[in-house]
Amino acid sequence: MDMIIEIVYFLAAAVFIIGLKQMSSPVTARQGIVWAGIAMVIASLFTFGDPAVLHNTGNLGWMVLAIVAGSAIAYITAKRVAMTDMPQMIAIYNGMGGGAAAAIAAVELVKVARVPELAQGTTVMVLAVLGAIIGAVSFSGSAIAFAKLQGLIKKTIRLPFHMLINLAMFAGAIALGGMMAFSGEVDASILLIFFALTLVFGIMFTLPIGGADMPVVISLFNALTGLAVAFEGFVLQNAAMIIAGTVVGSSGTLLTQLMAKAMNRPISNVLFSSFGSATGGGAEEEVEGSMKEIQADDAAIMMAYATKVIIVPGYGMAVAQAQHKLKEMEALLEERGVDVKYAIHPVAGRMPGHMNVLLAEAGVDYDKILDLDEVNPEFPTADVALVIGANDVVNPVARSNPDSPIYGMPILDADKAQNTIVIKRGRGAGFSGIENHLFYADNTRMLYGDGQKAVAGLIAGIKQL
Ligand code: NDP
Repeated sequence: MDMIIEIVYFLAAAVFIIGLKQMSSPVTARQGIVWAGIAMVIASLFTFGDPAVLHNTGNLGWMVLAIVAGSAIAYITAKRVAMTDMPQMIAIYNGMGGGAAAAIAAVELVKVARVPELAQGTTVMVLAVLGAIIGAVSFSGSAIAFAKLQGLIKKTIRLPFHMLINLAMFAGAIALGGMMAFSGEVDASILLIFFALTLVFGIMFTLPIGGADMPVVISLFNALTGLAVAFEGFVLQNAAMIIAGTVVGSSGTLLTQLMAKAMNRPISNVLFSSFGSATGGGAEEEVEGSMKEIQADDAAIMMAYATKVIIVPGYGMAVAQAQHKLKEMEALLEERGVDVKYAIHPVAGRMPGHMNVLLAEAGVDYDKILDLDEVNPEFPTADVALVIGANDVVNPVARSNPDSPIYGMPILDADKAQNTIVIKRGRGAGFSGIENHLFYADNTRMLYGDGQKAVAGLIAGIKQL
């Protein structure tokens, strides 16, 4: 039976990796998620064939109950969650993964506390302790990330000597963990203090990080959860956990790096600078000029008689769920011979690939969706850049003001188009909370309103021509 389980784990891991690979393109992403999910379900089911699990009949009922209850909660909440609330859902589910890894470590360490002979040697103890620290930090940190994105914690909290307190707690956890791992002896009260320190450290580490940086932090915690699961996989000698954990750990690390790069900020700056929070941010320049309004009919004329229109979607498009209307408008413009493209910034919206997912859902052709590097040279030859619900990702201050908190972040050059039309509801700032100079530019016109209604107005206008 052992051999069969190992083979199934190996095959499940291979399918999991293929599924992850498929997620790198919007064309195959949905299929990739299904494959990876099926692989994990099969690996989980075969775990019950393990004699160690089967003989542990006392807990079998509890395990099945927990799996059924967890699956039901996940199914219902995932079905109900709004697309815009997806990042916090990912945060909480990811945190659960970290918590589960920490719980496995806790069980192993409690076993050793009760029966010292069960200690499996220094290497396994070190891995158990490391998995416990990383998993627990990821668990409590993800809970804070969830609370921040859900608006349950609105303020950025930074205590006096915050960094020093964090450092002391982290050093304390490492010292206690090291003591347990290298002595092979676990004392119940030390174990309790060890877990309390790691959990509070996760909270304190995340509290000062600004809301705008939360998705990067979630991605980092995701990588950490993967690592914790891999470590606990070694402790349990479970190949599926080792492989899946390692793959999640490495892909999460790459994603974290890519997101930080897209903002042109080192990860250390993301984690320790309170960017986008009440306490963070740099000096703002005075904005010259004024915002000039345009009506839907006039905007429709500008676009209908254009040769090239580049649509720049942002977080507001997701809020307004305007993607279907955009697709409808694109078809109308194309019928009139207008070349229509979409420009996607790597951190537009609130999670990586946010815009791509929504545009794909509306049936927009993948060839028309261009990345920052591909599309930026095209803006000067575009007659109209239609910015819909995007703000920070088109803020030229990122190029011009070294004091700005978003200085250095590569932006979409919508300001370089012949004309720019900006759809937004009012004077609301972007996630970084700073003023956008593009809205005041001479060739920019503001089309105020909810994204979906504004595009419906444009469609009506184009149809009349
Ligand atoms: P922003 O958050 O900068 O701006 C969104 C704009 O949409 C607001 O100014 C708002 O203005 C407008 N808006 C909101 N609701 C609607 C609506 N219903 N209809 C029309 N407009 C609406 O979005 P961007 O996409 O430009 O930038 C993303 C930000 O998130 C960046 O700062 C990025 O660094 C950050 N971020 C993103 C990550 C990612 O993975 N994608 C990761 C980390 C950070 P108004 O209220 O006036 O309507």
